[in-house]
Amino acid sequence: MELKIGKPYLESGKGTVRLCAQVKAPGEQQTKLFFEVDKKWGEYLVTELSDAFVLAVLKRAMKHGWDICYETPMSEDLCYQLTAYGIPVLSGLTEIYSAILLKGETTDLEIPAAGKAGTGFSGGVDSFYSVLKHKDSRFPKHEVTHLVLARNGAASSSVPQKLAREWYDASSKKLAKSAAELGMEYIGVWSDIPDFYRRESCGNGCLIQTSSFIHALRKLFKNYYWASTFRTDVIDFQEYSRTGDGGFIDPFLVPLVSVDGLRFHHSGGEASRIEKVEYIADFPVVQRSLTVCGSLDAGNCGNCVKCLRTMAELNSIGKLEQFQESFPVKKYLKHWTGKLAFELALDHPPFTTDILKTMEAHGKKVPAAVFMKKWCFYTPYRKVREALRDHYAVRKLYYMLKLDEKTGQKHSREMKRLRLEECKRKRR
Ligand SMILES: [Zn+2]
Repeated sequence: MELKIGKPYLESGKGTVRLCAQVKAPGEQQTKLFFEVDKKWGEYLVTELSDAFVLAVLKRAMKHGWDICYETPMSEDLCYQLTAYGIPVLSGLTEIYSAILLKGETTDLEIPAAGKAGTGFSGGVDSFYSVLKHKDSRFPKHEVTHLVLARNGAASSSVPQKLAREWYDASSKKLAKSAAELGMEYIGVWSDIPDFYRRESCGNGCLIQTSSFIHALRKLFKNYYWASTFRTDVIDFQEYSRTGDGGFIDPFLVPLVSVDGLRFHHSGGEASRIEKVEYIADFPVVQRSLTVCGSLDAGNCGNCVKCLRTMAELNSIGKLEQFQESFPVKKYLKHWTGKLAFELALDHPPFTTDILKTMEAHGKKVPAAVFMKKWCFYTPYRKVREALRDHYAVRKLYYMLKLDEKTGQKHSREMKRLRLEECKRKRR
């Protein structure tokens, strides 16, 4: 079976430009996939190659074993790398994907580019580290100039378009302000690619799909820093199969999606998460706008695993009090043993082990009560919550008692409606 990609073309909107292509997946209606940017960035979109769209659909095609048939040529570099290494390795070493063919012409057409350096910018620890690491660089060509927010991160991929838009608009407003403070350009890229995946599990936060957004803007970039979650030594295809976390295969994917004239870098692969937190913690712009949560209002809820992890990390290095503008610091410090116990129950190594080691290194004793609370209360609580998360009546009660805002991210009315509908569907 074949997935077909038509010729890429541009479409102008109200102050925006879209790079579009018609896509027809087996057994589904033809659909238009697009990357949308402010018209200021329209001249950098690439219609001459199919690369962005092939990367955009690749994981879903490999999951179903669909060959990809594209009308406009792909760059020879990318087609070679995917065909010779990417597809054989991902289909051979993971349980998620099957081997497929890429059918179409290739070209070594030179794409003129403005030669800029960019990085993804969600306002989280990894992206702030990448930005600050490449600011005032001793390597002029590697000085980061453009910060990109794409509708593709973990926060926006798994929710319906309407809610993702709420997150995207709130984040854009906040991040454009931070970019201006840093003296950098901000580019938002809205897209319907997450909707094409229809919440099918094909791995999260993966560079293959994210690089499609940068290939779409290839006329702008020469260097792009992929803000990695883990250190380079984390590479593990089995762990990727088990968890779907793209961070486990980043070191393999970075050279795979690089082509002549556009190079990706594994930024942050040299540092642990705690080292990144230590690196960024003293910058006022980070203290004001660090955003790790993924909540729809682009704030930090203070209750979810990402908020609890980051507050525990900042507390372990003695810097949490400087983050009063970003997190509910006073509340955290008042109940820090319980909050740490909850984090240890929700999270996993290396995050949890690094927090405990760093606390010890900074002379902060972790009371036995933390472990007691973790094992006797929060771990069983987490297991019960996971087992009942899709139970309709329990979820209804959960919202009636406002447990969403007490134990995690507050859900909007629309999110509550969608979650309850989902529970009903699963009950059938
Ligand atoms: Zn949160």
